[in-house]
Amino acid sequence: MLIPIEVSARHIHLSQKDLELLFGTGHQLTIKQTLSQTGEFAAQETIELIGPQNSLSARIVGPTRPHTQVELSYSDCHLLGISAPLRLSGDLAHSASLNLVGPAGQLTLESGVIISKRHLHIDTASALTNHLHNGQIVQTKITGERGGILDQVVVRVSDTFTLALHLDTDEANALGIDSHNHQAELLV
Ligand SMILES: [Zn+2]
Repeated sequence: MLIPIEVSARHIHLSQKDLELLFGTGHQLTIKQTLSQTGEFAAQETIELIGPQNSLSARIVGPTRPHTQVELSYSDCHLLGISAPLRLSGDLAHSASLNLVGPAGQLTLESGVIISKRHLHIDTASALTNHLHNGQIVQTKITGERGGILDQVVVRVSDTFTLALHLDTDEANALGIDSHNHQAELLV
């Protein structure tokens, strides 16, 4: 099976409470671009992530969620001067901390900064057809001059998911993934 690759740059999901702390009471996100997963969008709004060594700007991915979550690459963490754990989205216990600055305020996120584990989104029907289940660990192969095999890809199954392999910018750059080389082969 061939899987489209989507590269996730550093981004942040905000709770409504934190959105209002950073952008002002009643603020609603503005959609810049819809994303492949149903309902998700890149917002016009960005915020500043302030680490011990440097700061970086991060785009907000909406809609708002119950908990604020920052997703970074290892390179981002090195630049900021922090150490964040490798986790699946939503697994935030004892994750890393950062200061967040928006146009209307700032806050210290005590926990919620992670490096996202590479993962594969697939809808329930396609998962059944391909004998895949939620939480399964698979390998994917990327072709090309800098291609390679990626181990420890977590399968995530939901009725609302669209088939995609999600990698961060470090992984994509290391494997030479670009607009001409953006499919992975599933190896189970
Ligand atoms: Zn994803």
